[in-house]
Parts: sequence; C-alpha cells; structure tokens
Amino acid sequence: MLDQGDGDQAGDQDGGRCRPWRGPVDRLGYGFVRVGRGRALAHRLAWRLAGLELPAGWRVRPCRALRHCVNVAHLELLPRRPRAPH
Ligand SMILES: [Zn+2]
Repeated sequence: MLDQGDGDQAGDQDGGRCRPWRGPVDRLGYGFVRVGRGRALAHRLAWRLAGLELPAGWRVRPCRALRHCVNVAHLELLPRRPRAPH
C-alpha cells in the first residue's frame, strides 16, 4: 500500500519491494512493451510514467534484484558513457 502522507524518504536506497512488470519479459529478463515494430523497456517506461526526466545521454539502470522490476525507487539514472577514471 502506498502511503504518500508518510514523508518523503529521499536517499532511501531500498524504496520498498520490487514491482514485477506484468507485461512480456525478454530472454534477458527485461520487461518490455511492443511499440510499433520495436519495443520499449518497461523500466524505462516506468521512469517516464513517474514523471521523471530522462535527459539525452542518460539511461535508466534497471533494478539490480529484478530486471523487470518497475519500482522507480529501484531504478537509477546513469550517464550513457561511463566517465574515464581519473
Ligand atoms: Zn526492484
């Protein structure tokens, strides 16, 4: 159950349980939906549907525990190109 009046737990890495995607899941375990001839990744879709930004050059990293998890608290925005270590 979502209790939105319970304060914003910013910085909480856990964010509750995994929410498995109910749609199709590919061989690698990623949830997806068919869009025209292609497909859109479920975790990415969940990110956008949550109203979160996906700037160019960034990607949404799937949940570590469950690849087709669509709990946005488990997703993370990462730069597409890893920065060179200094
Ligand atoms: Zn998860």
